[in-house]
Amino acid sequence: MDAPDDRVVELLRGARRIAALTGAGVSTAAGIPDFRGPRGLYVTRQYDPEKTFDIGCFDRDPTYFFAFARDFVRLVERVKPTVTHRLLAALEAQDRLEAVITQNIDGLHQKAGSRRVLEVHGSVRSGHCRGCGKGYGYEALKAKILGEPIARCDACGGVVKPDIVFFGEAVQEMDRASRAAARADVFLVIGSSLTVYPAALLPQHASGRVVVVNRGPVEMASADWLRIDEAADSFFARVAPGLHLPRLAQDEPLGA
Ligand SMILES: [Zn+2]
Repeated sequence: MDAPDDRVVELLRGARRIAALTGAGVSTAAGIPDFRGPRGLYVTRQYDPEKTFDIGCFDRDPTYFFAFARDFVRLVERVKPTVTHRLLAALEAQDRLEAVITQNIDGLHQKAGSRRVLEVHGSVRSGHCRGCGKGYGYEALKAKILGEPIARCDACGGVVKPDIVFFGEAVQEMDRASRAAARADVFLVIGSSLTVYPAALLPQHASGRVVVVNRGPVEMASADWLRIDEAADSFFARVAPGLHLPRLAQDEPLGA
C-alpha cells in the first residue's frame, strides 16, 4: 500500500462521524450508465435528457418518460451493489457513517444495506400520483411501470410519477445533507466530478477532512482535499482489508 492509501485508511479508521457524497461513478461500476457521460443511457438508448426529465413534457405526454423508466427499472432490477456501496453500508453498520448523500436515483445504496441515505435527486423506489397525490411503494410502482404504457393511479386514474427530481424541481434533503457535511470529521466524495449543483457545493460545508475518490478531474477542488484519482471500486477493494470492517453488508431487496 502506498502513502495515499495509508492516509485514507488512517483517516477512516480514526473517524467517528463520516459522511459521503456519491455520484454516477459509484453506479457505473455496477453497470448503470452515467446519464451525462459520453456513453450514457441517453446516448446509447437515444433518450434526450432534456425531454426525459422535463416536468412540462411529462405533464403534456408522459409516454416518452415511461419508455425510459421501463428500461431503467429493468436495469436496476438486474444490477448488484458494488464494493463501494457495500463498504459504505458496513461503515454505517458500525455506526460511524452518519449519511450517504447520493446524486444517483437507482437505490443501490439501500440494496447494499444502507439506511441513512439522502437521495438529493430522488429515486425510482417510490412515486406519487400527479392528480390526487396518492403514494406508491417500489413494488406497486414497478408493476405499473413494467406493465402499463403509462403508470396510472388506482384511486383517480391520474399519472403516477416516480419520485425522481426532474429539471425545474427542487432537489431534496439538502438541509440534512448540509448538516451532515458540516458535522462530519471525514467527508468522502466518491465517483463525482462535482459538476452538478447544488450537491457539488456540499464539500464546502465540510468542517472535517475532505477525501475525494474519483477518476478524472474534479471541479473546484481545494488544495486541502486528499485526492485519489482512481475508480472507487478498485481503490476501496484495495484499502478495505485495512479498515477491519465487520462485514460487507449483504444484498437486500430494493424495495426494503
Ligand atoms: Zn391519483
